[in-house]
Amino acid sequence: MTTALLPPNLTFIERDWLSANHVLFHDDGGATLVDTGYIAFADVTLAKLHDALQGAPMKRIINTHLHSDHIGCNGAIQRAYPSTTISVPLAEVSALKNWDSPEQMLTYADQEAEAFAWDDVIETGQTLTLGGLLWETIATPGHDMGSLVLYSPETKILISADALWHNSFGFVVPRAIDPASVAAQRSTFKRLAELEVALVIPGHGPMFTDFAASLKNASDKLEAFALDDMKIARNVVKGMFVYSMMWRETMPVAELLNYVQRVGVHRDYNAWLFRMSDEAYAAWLLAEAEKTGKVSVTDGLIRTVV
Ligand SMILES: [Zn+2]
Repeated sequence: MTTALLPPNLTFIERDWLSANHVLFHDDGGATLVDTGYIAFADVTLAKLHDALQGAPMKRIINTHLHSDHIGCNGAIQRAYPSTTISVPLAEVSALKNWDSPEQMLTYADQEAEAFAWDDVIETGQTLTLGGLLWETIATPGHDMGSLVLYSPETKILISADALWHNSFGFVVPRAIDPASVAAQRSTFKRLAELEVALVIPGHGPMFTDFAASLKNASDKLEAFALDDMKIARNVVKGMFVYSMMWRETMPVAELLNYVQRVGVHRDYNAWLFRMSDEAYAAWLLAEAEKTGKVSVTDGLIRTVV
C-alpha cells in the first residue's frame, strides 16, 4: 500500500532486522544506494541490489551512519561494482579515522565490519539531487552522534535511518557512558517534528505513514529511558547480545561466562553500571535474551529462534 506513495526513481528494499533497509535511487548517471546491510549477509544484499538495479550501473553508496548493519556491505558492493564511490556524513569522519572505537559498537559489541575507504563527505543542511528529487540532509545525532537523514520537501518523504522507526528508534547509550546521547536524540526528535512528513522510510522495519504518532511514541519511549539510566543500559546490552546471537546462531552456554568477560560492552557495562559478578551477569543476560523470544536454550546450547 505504502509502496504506491513512492516516486518512480526510488526503490525501497526492506531487509530483516539484522541488516538496515536500503533505498536505491535511479538517475541517468547511475544508481545511488543508501546503506548496505550487515557483512554476514552480503550475498543477500548483492542479490537484492542486482535485482533492483535492473542492469543500470551502480554509482554511489551513501551511508547514514557507521553502524555495522548500515556499512557492512560497502566493500562487497564496491568489489561487485568497482566504479561505486562511498559518501559518508562529514560528522562521521573522525569516527572513521578512529575505526572500531567502542562508540562504533563493532568489536566492542561483538559485531563485524570491514573497514572501507570513503570518497567524499556529505554535510548536513545541504541539498542532494537523488532520483530526480531534491533531498535535504539533516543531522540526527543521538543513536549515533554523526548520523544524518534525508528529507524530500516535494514528496514529503523522510528516509529516517535509525533516528526514527515506527514508534521507536535505534538504541541510545546511558548518560554514564555518554552524557550527550539522550539529549541529542531528544533534539533530533524536535528537529524531525518540524518536518511535514507523508511517508517514512526507516532504517529498519516497514515504511509507515503515521509519522506524528510514531514520533510521539518514540519520544515518549525516550523520555521513559531518560528517567532511568539503568533501563537504557539493560536495553543496550540485551539488544547487543540478541543481535550477536542472531548472526552467530548458536553459542554453548558454557562459553557465555568467557563471552561477557571478553566482549567490551558486557565487560564494561557490568563493571561500571550493573556491578554483578560475571557469573550473575551472564545468567541475567541470558534470561533477559530468552524473554525476548528470539533466543532459547536447549541441551546446553544457546540458539536463535527462527
Ligand atoms: Zn544504527
